Amino acid sequence: MIRLESYVSGRWQPGAGRLTTLVNPANEAAIAEASSEGVDFGAALAYGRAAGAALRALTFAERAGLLKAMAKVLHANREELLDLAQTNGGNTRGDAKFDVDGAIGTLSAYAVTGDAMAARLGDRKFLLDGDFIQLARNPRFVGQHIRSTRHGVAVHINAFNFPAWGTYEKVAVAFLAGVPVITKPATATAVVTWRSVQLLVQSGCLPAGALQLICGSTGELLSRLGPQDHLAFTGSNATGAALRNTAGFAENGVRVTVEADSLNAAVCGPDVEVGGDVWSTMLRNVVQDMTQKTGQKCTAVRRVFLPADKAEAFEEALVDALSGVVVGDPTTDGVTMGPVSTAAQLRDARAGIAALAEGNRVALGGAAPVDGVNAPAGKGYYVRPTVISGANARTHDLEVFGPCVSLLAYDGTAAGAAKGIGQGQGSLVSSFYADDRGWIGDVVAGAAPWLGRMQICGSKIADMATPPGMVLPSMLHGGPGRAGGGEELGGERGLLFYMQRTAVAGDRVVLGKVFGTGE
Ligand code: NAP
Repeated sequence: MIRLESYVSGRWQPGAGRLTTLVNPANEAAIAEASSEGVDFGAALAYGRAAGAALRALTFAERAGLLKAMAKVLHANREELLDLAQTNGGNTRGDAKFDVDGAIGTLSAYAVTGDAMAARLGDRKFLLDGDFIQLARNPRFVGQHIRSTRHGVAVHINAFNFPAWGTYEKVAVAFLAGVPVITKPATATAVVTWRSVQLLVQSGCLPAGALQLICGSTGELLSRLGPQDHLAFTGSNATGAALRNTAGFAENGVRVTVEADSLNAAVCGPDVEVGGDVWSTMLRNVVQDMTQKTGQKCTAVRRVFLPADKAEAFEEALVDALSGVVVGDPTTDGVTMGPVSTAAQLRDARAGIAALAEGNRVALGGAAPVDGVNAPAGKGYYVRPTVISGANARTHDLEVFGPCVSLLAYDGTAAGAAKGIGQGQGSLVSSFYADDRGWIGDVVAGAAPWLGRMQICGSKIADMATPPGMVLPSMLHGGPGRAGGGEELGGERGLLFYMQRTAVAGDRVVLGKVFGTGE
């Protein structure tokens, strides 16, 4: 049995008291234990805050070097991390790669961003926001907006579904901004995060105090956060809402960003030819979103909007494609979809499917229990790919975090599509399949306020576009409303969460020297 330890104040701490048991979701065998009881969270915060000075002293080029070194360590140990992702997360090999390679890729992408910033900024550590603004009749008196790295720590709390990518997509951005991190993975799937931090610590590439890890509960850590600290949370809307209301957050102005649930949609435009390239891409993307990570992706499609004349053909094609999915122990040859990750997820997914199915037609799958291939009878957290035809009162507000979609008819207009998107009350991403530029323009105008990211897939890019469920480091990740209102990634944009914007007024010549604008 692996005993997960927290890495806090420069040493590994096993925690005391009652231990939480982590299992292999394919067969429910216990594999690890964790507790953070007894960890001195006050000392961890002080240690992290003190480490900030050394990180801030690094140039962007040096911070990029740190990210490259971290990516190298994870890459060198990729096979071990993939194995652990399979055992603790119920991942197929492909799912595990999506998580682990996503972590390595995002660290590497932010290293490239850092190098580009270094080429522009040299050794300067602050960012300029706009140009000089003349503030008086005499042009010597000017204003300049700048962004500088805040002096606190970043607490990162992550969801269970991406223990590698979820951890390092946040760490990459905070480190490039110069902010130390205390990271907390979801306890149920923490093995990959724990091992990756262990590898990084052993490699010696991390500056002291830059990265601390909590395996287990955060105890009283959050209530100790102060005005320069940050909380970046990924998880359910309910937990996100509760954490926003942490005692002291409002009074101290603790900066919070939340990435939460989302009822992402795919919309078939009226001009899509049944069986054509765009149609096939849409079908492939919906199947991938439903089955990759067993549908446990925050960006996975939950609602598919179809014009009435294409609804039957799409349902038939989708059911046909999903009928070949083999559900079972993901380490078994031939299995193409593993279990959901925890007993609680299984319970919620089955209850959610039953709720969405009420009054509607279940075209495939359903909420009934199912055994997985090569899993002991009655053991493991398996769900069948499920297609529900039609809407009910829950369709636009209940996120089933598993392999389930609802097929919904709409009138084919851009206004109808935008209305359907908006019914989800704010989503991370939605994809639109069409070539008609007038329809696309109207749908962007109508739906963009409800979305963090839109993917417009027409015939010219059908065979080259990345799937909409894939989060790219160069594009924003987050969404309005129930998706949490957060913004992560997006290249350099992601750093702004960790920086303070300050308006500086003064002598054009002096400020020009200080800011390196050459004036
Ligand atoms: P969750 O139950 O909200 O837990 C998320 C994280 O919050 C876990 O690390 C959990 O730790 C921690 N947590 C829970 N209560 C806490 C508290 N009182 N104080 C401090 N930390 C606390 O969500 P989940 O079940 O892991 O994830 C599923 C949900 O996340 C889905 O609804 C999905 O949509 C959403 N999600 C969103 C994104 C995104 O990027 N927007 C990505 C992935 C998932 P423990 O595990 O120790 O309880």
